[in-house]
Amino acid sequence: MTNTFPAPASLPPPTTAVDLSGRTALVTGGGSGIGRACAFALAQAGAFVHVVDRDADAAKAVAEVTGGEAHVVDLADPGAVDLLPAGTDILVNNAGLQHVAPIPEFPPERFELIQKVMVTAPFLLMRRALPHMYARDWGRIVNVSSVHGLRASAYKSAYVAAKHALEGLSKVAAIEGAPHGVTSNCVNPGYVRTPLVEGQIRDQAAAHGIGEDDVLADVLLARSPVKRLLESEEVAAAVLWLCGPHSGYLTGASLPLDGGWTAG
Ligand code: NAD
Repeated sequence: MTNTFPAPASLPPPTTAVDLSGRTALVTGGGSGIGRACAFALAQAGAFVHVVDRDADAAKAVAEVTGGEAHVVDLADPGAVDLLPAGTDILVNNAGLQHVAPIPEFPPERFELIQKVMVTAPFLLMRRALPHMYARDWGRIVNVSSVHGLRASAYKSAYVAAKHALEGLSKVAAIEGAPHGVTSNCVNPGYVRTPLVEGQIRDQAAAHGIGEDDVLADVLLARSPVKRLLESEEVAAAVLWLCGPHSGYLTGASLPLDGGWTAG
């Protein structure tokens, strides 16, 4: 009898390090923080990494160390995606920004910018990358969402709306990609020690009228049972595993790296 549902061919043992030699990856926001850690991890595993960032110096520095290629674009410009390579096997949608303000005071243009960078750009990048992935019968999309893709916090209307939208987009890509060997998942970090969070500590101090020293304990980590910031390398390790040979059955999922925040 013909086996209509074959097992994946020659899986390596579960202890084998992820080998991405021959694969190409594109990481947005690859010049800093989580994106930079992802670029390092994917390159270390053997992938050729396209480092996409609007910060030219940062993108070039990461590309130099990883042996990849820097692409300096502003992802708020929909035309920018057309300048990026279409033939990528792994797409990490990571670029993001934050703005903290109550809704009545939230600048509409800032709201729109956040949707463009964190929702429209990932959609356009998927749209561009998927035909190549489908042709190869393999692909990995990892969307760097947030605990704020699953939970809301005050003063973050644009960010929470964008991350919830990214969750939906990721699930649609998972369903459409499944027959083509393409998985799409979100990772959902709590607060990670990056320049973005350092900026938020300043903004939250102003919004709550408290000192910056108190923001970490009383605001950022208040809902996290694990009382420390997450490190970028811990996020990159999860992203790398999602790109490896043992994660093909995990798709349309959201992996909480939130110190137990969403368990409560
Ligand atoms: P970061 O500020 O350290 O890095 C973000 C990078 O994205 C920067 O290099 C920046 O230049 C780039 N970028 C921003 N806007 C861009 C644009 N329009 N075009 C091109 N590049 C652009 O931030 P990070 O903390 O590493 O965050 C990365 C992702 O992780 C974001 O999507 C963020 O929402 C998510 N995240 C961060 C945390 C955290 O605590 N740091 C928690 C959960 C989720």
